[in-house]
Amino acid sequence: MKDLKCGLKECRFNKGYSCCADCITICGNTDCESYEPLEDKRGSLFEAADEFVPANYSVDTKVKCDADCVFNKNHICVSNGITVMGEGEKEAVCLTFIKD
Ligand code: SF4
Repeated sequence: MKDLKCGLKECRFNKGYSCCADCITICGNTDCESYEPLEDKRGSLFEAADEFVPANYSVDTKVKCDADCVFNKNHICVSNGITVMGEGEKEAVCLTFIKD
């Protein structure tokens, strides 16, 4: 999946609000298990600089998933794209989830 948008720019895999991990795992409760915040990306003095990093859609990220979702086929997400964001108390959640 190349269209993996993610609002968590402090994550080590985030480049211009796009996920560049080779493989991520979404848990049964739709949390992104691969979210890994880096202290030096979080609230750095040059925070604004991150905003100008161009998105990188060239990485074909494999999305493993355990959620009970319409896009889940044998624990692999078959959606064309997903969006991951923080939601309420949760740090990183798949917002594309549609209950199966
Ligand atoms: S869209 Fe559904 S199957 Fe795909 S990662 Fe999100 S919750 Fe899992």
